[in-house]
Amino acid sequence: LSPVPSDIEISRAQSPKAVEVLAKEIGLLADEIEIYGQTKAKVRLSLLERLKDQPDGKYILVAGITPTPLGEGKSTVTIGLVQALTAHLDINSFACLRQPSQGPTFGVKGGAAGGGYAQVIPMEEFNLHLTGDIHAITAANNLLAAAIDARILHESTQSDKALYSRLVPVVDGVRKFSSIQLARLKRLGISKSNPGALTEEEINKFVRLDIDPSTITWQRVLDTNDRFLRKITIGQANTEKGFIRQAQFDIAVASEIMAILALTTSLADMKERLGKMVVANDKNEQPVTAEDLGVTGALAVLMKDAIKPTLMQTLEGTPVFVHAGPFANIAHGNSSVLADKIALKLVGEEGFVVTEAGFGADIGMEKFFNIKCRVSGLIPNVVVLVATIRALKMHGGGPSVTAGAPLKKDYTEENLQLVADGCCNLQKQIQIAQLFGVPVVVALNVFKTDSHAEIDLVCEIAKQSGAFDALPCKHWSAGGKGAVELAQAVRKAANQKNNFRFLYNLELPIVEKIRVIAQKVYGAQDIELSPTAQTQIDRYSQQGFGNLPVCMAKTHLSLSHQPERKGVPTGFILPISDVRASIGAGFIYPLVGTHSFDIWLMNSASHVSCF
Ligand code: ADP
Repeated sequence: LSPVPSDIEISRAQSPKAVEVLAKEIGLLADEIEIYGQTKAKVRLSLLERLKDQPDGKYILVAGITPTPLGEGKSTVTIGLVQALTAHLDINSFACLRQPSQGPTFGVKGGAAGGGYAQVIPMEEFNLHLTGDIHAITAANNLLAAAIDARILHESTQSDKALYSRLVPVVDGVRKFSSIQLARLKRLGISKSNPGALTEEEINKFVRLDIDPSTITWQRVLDTNDRFLRKITIGQANTEKGFIRQAQFDIAVASEIMAILALTTSLADMKERLGKMVVANDKNEQPVTAEDLGVTGALAVLMKDAIKPTLMQTLEGTPVFVHAGPFANIAHGNSSVLADKIALKLVGEEGFVVTEAGFGADIGMEKFFNIKCRVSGLIPNVVVLVATIRALKMHGGGPSVTAGAPLKKDYTEENLQLVADGCCNLQKQIQIAQLFGVPVVVALNVFKTDSHAEIDLVCEIAKQSGAFDALPCKHWSAGGKGAVELAQAVRKAANQKNNFRFLYNLELPIVEKIRVIAQKVYGAQDIELSPTAQTQIDRYSQQGFGNLPVCMAKTHLSLSHQPERKGVPTGFILPISDVRASIGAGFIYPLVGTHSFDIWLMNSASHVSCF
């Protein structure tokens, strides 16, 4: 229709097919799905075993140029592209998207189901609750938080003997170690398996984690941007005997458990990763893990359904997996490895899986390659780089773009000079994708105010800058048929020779990995570490975590650390204020900028919030 109705009107005007019908169409067996209502189903991981000999389809990543705060249409392009491939070119395809958090959904950004005639439906089901995965993460995260404080309290108030009885209780007349406890004994160098045989000294070693409360990095979470919970005081009841400390609530999707869900490859792998999560240091500066607290099994069982991807559909009835939703600034910003792997089997060798990485290519795409692909072992065939005329004009020196405010005249009227000047950002993002050896197709997401001359100019510059092809796309106003040319170009590009490579070797010291990303991807002259960042790097290296990949926590609004610097900033020194680690997820995350961790976290959550 013209004018295009609102997203919700479009979503509600279409009747989705029953999810059982969709599941059958894509080759799922009845016992491989678990139905949630009429339009959603979880897909069992047993499918991977059944299809293990089936060759994978082509793997397409949708990334973008440095965006305006409004978003440039990566989700919309992802959906438009699969609609074009399946419904118009008759090629099996699957879209893999992240589950949105309530923070952005009720904040500045709104939902993430795409938009216009390129959407996942029903929109409300997609944006809210889905199949409860974020609730499961919240439950698991907070169980671990509770276990940390309870442990500190019990260790401070009870004798070794009392603690031993609490940790290794007598059941049916027998005191028996659990498998987790046996593993802990092994780590402590105690080779006894009979609880009665431990000496007093061994019992002391076994029962005391000696957590240093000032080093606790594990916070409580909630999937709401509730600013009044950003700093809280816990332990104020009489029963906690004055074990009061400052703590905070983070948004649930920032939990390391979300990053683990996105990166895990099986139930056993997820359990192992959950156990490895470091929550604090002990008084000897050694890491304390979820496994040390004895809660790995409980966390895994809380997550047992969340590990299965959720099947939904686009407006044109093509399949979509919605699974995991780590933010792209604080975590790696990609949907799950498992959803991609299952989808690649389901589409067959000639099919396409289109997956999306958050924010600009400098952030989500870099992490997709260096972190996600390293874990999954999957090799992407094409990068689709989404650009808009409005974002290019902003990079060319246009006035600032603010969510909720009307766009200024420069953005609604033709201005070829601004567009030409702003193409430097597109060019740089193409070059970043090329660092990884993957062909790039530029998708220019067309808005109704874009002129023909502006569109032609961008496509021309993109091709001159090394893109395999560059095409205007009208899926937002026309659905899949508005992205048919894009789909054809992607199909051609996918047959190109692939020279995929990582940007750095894991063996490089942490500082060098940070420097490579800063210089090669962001264009920084060099990096500058704060004393805190240096201390943390030394500690993680000493603790044996130096070989993990690096997940930069940086603003998405600029290639540099300063959101107001648009285009392609040069000559800057990238400050690293702090360095943290998600050992279970498997990455070190440096905080880019000059703010402390707390302020950084607050800012990173508030970019999505209007509260
Ligand atoms: P991203 O994934 O890059 O953050 P989205 O695909 O979620 O961006 O799109 C952001 C918003 O912009 C959505 O509300 C979407 O409906 C809208 N949008 C995207 N493309 C267009 C377009 N071509 N014309 C008008 N609105 C659009």
